[in-house]
Amino acid sequence: MTLATIVARREEALSQIARKIFKTREVKVKATMQLAPLIPLLYKILKPAFPNCLWAGDGSERSLALTFDDGPHPQYTPQLLEVLERYKIKASFFWLGICVERWPEVAKEVYRRGHWIGLHGWNHRSFPLLSDAELRQSLEKTQEAIAAACDLDLQQVRRTFRDVRPPNGLFVARTLKRLRQWNYRTVMWSVVPEDWVRPGVSVVVQRLRQQVQPGSLIVLHDGYCGGEDVAATAAEVIPWLLEQGDEFVSVDQFWQSFPADFSS
Ligand SMILES: [Zn+2]
Repeated sequence: MTLATIVARREEALSQIARKIFKTREVKVKATMQLAPLIPLLYKILKPAFPNCLWAGDGSERSLALTFDDGPHPQYTPQLLEVLERYKIKASFFWLGICVERWPEVAKEVYRRGHWIGLHGWNHRSFPLLSDAELRQSLEKTQEAIAAACDLDLQQVRRTFRDVRPPNGLFVARTLKRLRQWNYRTVMWSVVPEDWVRPGVSVVVQRLRQQVQPGSLIVLHDGYCGGEDVAATAAEVIPWLLEQGDEFVSVDQFWQSFPADFSS
């Protein structure tokens, strides 16, 4: 199976989120792909190729950023918040606008607890498939949903909530150019244990334990794909990371040690 096929299948699985999100029955996404073994390789290739994206911290201290995509979700996100609260961990959340609009109270609670908020597009459509106008609207509409959900001034949200993680990890050069032009910051990752295909909590935890190092930017999911396990995964891996002496920081703190002028 080629990398393009794997990415295309992931794209298809995740793009179903928007269509399925308002149905009441449980959504099952078939675990047809195993991208996890390729991620460390992809990271090594992509990071130097796209230096204006945030891929990790500088690694000079034992700091980690724990990030969660695809939420907020009415069940999985509150479960996760409890675990983060138990260990006094601040994390970063990359939200889908459609979910913020659907579950504003959950979004508000995440924000109230002091977590860092970023954008993941309105409905998880891959950015390269959108026109410039659609991409911009997807992000601005998500900011509007956040402002309404969290009782915040829209201009403040536009200035502060400008970290963007492209859905499915997909972008083209034009995407990055536009995001930068519109004053957004692109956030990628260094550790992706592929929890969205639900390989089991122990597998996800094992991948994290093998791959995490100082400065790691970790991606997990609290939405429809993988969110069922996110609280259990966090409850297992956070104590272990704390034992290693790791400190948890937001992606904003990673930007502050970013070498380029891009972070300003
Ligand atoms: Zn996603």
